[in-house]
Amino acid sequence: MEYKTLNNGVEIPKLGFGVWQIFDQSECQKSVEDALEIGYRLIDTAALYKNEEAVGQAIKASGIKREDVFITTKAWINQLGYDETKKAFETSLKKLGTDYLDLYLIHQPYGDTHGAWRAMSELYKEGRIRAIGVSNFSTGRVTDFAINTDIVPALNQIELHPYKQQNILRATNQELGVATQAWSPFNQGKDDIFKDATLNSIAEKYGKSVAQIILRWQIQNDILTIPKSVHINRIKENFDVFDFELTQNDLDTIAKLDRFPNNYGPNETLEQVKRLSGFSI
Ligand code: NDP
Repeated sequence: MEYKTLNNGVEIPKLGFGVWQIFDQSECQKSVEDALEIGYRLIDTAALYKNEEAVGQAIKASGIKREDVFITTKAWINQLGYDETKKAFETSLKKLGTDYLDLYLIHQPYGDTHGAWRAMSELYKEGRIRAIGVSNFSTGRVTDFAINTDIVPALNQIELHPYKQQNILRATNQELGVATQAWSPFNQGKDDIFKDATLNSIAEKYGKSVAQIILRWQIQNDILTIPKSVHINRIKENFDVFDFELTQNDLDTIAKLDRFPNNYGPNETLEQVKRLSGFSI
């Protein structure tokens, strides 16, 4: 596994395993056990995903030392606020069966995010979280946190794939010292991304799959990534991306697939903010 050093010196695996939409607990546990067995050392969950217990069980069953696994979880909107986030943190720890987190994220930029940040900053200073960060923060939101709080977020986890490359937000993160981590690296398979002619022709050249080309493109662009699968062959395939390198020409070709080059980050439409804020866990 290759690692990137976050702005506070913590080492994070460049490739991790995501568990969103693995609602069945035994399926989640099995997938995480498979991923750990294959060699993944970062698991990305969230209170919202309702599978923190299954993740914790899988880590325990793997026999891998706690300090060798990087655990990320996230506080949902109704868990944000100084008191609420402290409570949510303890609940997540209990479910995960651990006494510290590697990375704790504000899942969405709505609600009492600054209160949550104060709670997370305290927990970080007490050594109960190794790094704190944000998710779905636009250029404005992440800049606000980086310059108007006393701890610069270690990471901003955002939707990022060849059809939505987030160049402006990535550059902003980089300038602020915030690592970029891609969620939905495969666009959840939408828009027929696995059938994309350009990606397929590059994949053929390297004898790799489209999924592997996408992950490699992210890794070479200093983008941390957390693909999800419940199929062991795909979990393996997605891990097998450290034995080849895309040429600059191929990276430039993939850069042209971006469909939203002027995007400043996550959409914040009235409908979206209302829908997400109306959802409590
Ligand atoms: P991904 O882009 O990782 O796509 C997952 C889909 O691709 C699944 O349908 C999976 O199918 C399929 N797939 C996986 N590998 C392959 C492969 N090699 N070949 C073909 N198909 C494949 O979507 P996610 O939305 O799950 O994103 C990844 C992770 O990011 C999440 O699990 C979660 O941890 C995080 N996330 C964070 C969000 C946030 O707001 N912070 C929002 C969304 C996700 P199958 O499982 O059947 O194999």
